[in-house]
Amino acid sequence: MADCIFCMIGNHDIPSNVAYEDDQIIAFHDLEPQAPVHVLVIPKKHITGLDDVKEEDKELMGHIMFKIHEIAADLGLENGYRVVSNNGEDAFQTVKHLHFHILGKRKMTWPPG
Ligand code: 5GP
Ligand code: ZN
Repeated sequence: MADCIFCMIGNHDIPSNVAYEDDQIIAFHDLEPQAPVHVLVIPKKHITGLDDVKEEDKELMGHIMFKIHEIAADLGLENGYRVVSNNGEDAFQTVKHLHFHILGKRKMTWPPG
């Protein structure tokens, strides 16, 4: 989709630090990391967010979910990581192309102790 920054990254029209790529998805390091390891996983197909996922996208969605643990392992996150997807205005989604944040190696303040 024109004017979509993540479509441009998926098409290699603008550069990114790629962590993983295949014909359906690309994972790249976040420009403004919020954790020591912060990677975004996106479908190359333009999907605005989870609310925009269609029946025909079920296999693609499964592929994304399946690949996340492999990408995390390649990033050295054997000890754990968070996966976050912000969707819509109330979640402060800033880029309107479906993406999953992988966040790792952050010192957690929860659970206490
Ligand atoms: P959101 O708040 O929409 O879930 O997060 C979007 C994320 O995309 C943010 O963490 C932001 O730093 C990241 N981001 C926005 N533009 C770019 C870009 O051009 N390149 C990369 N690598 N990350 C981006
Ligand atoms: Zn897009």
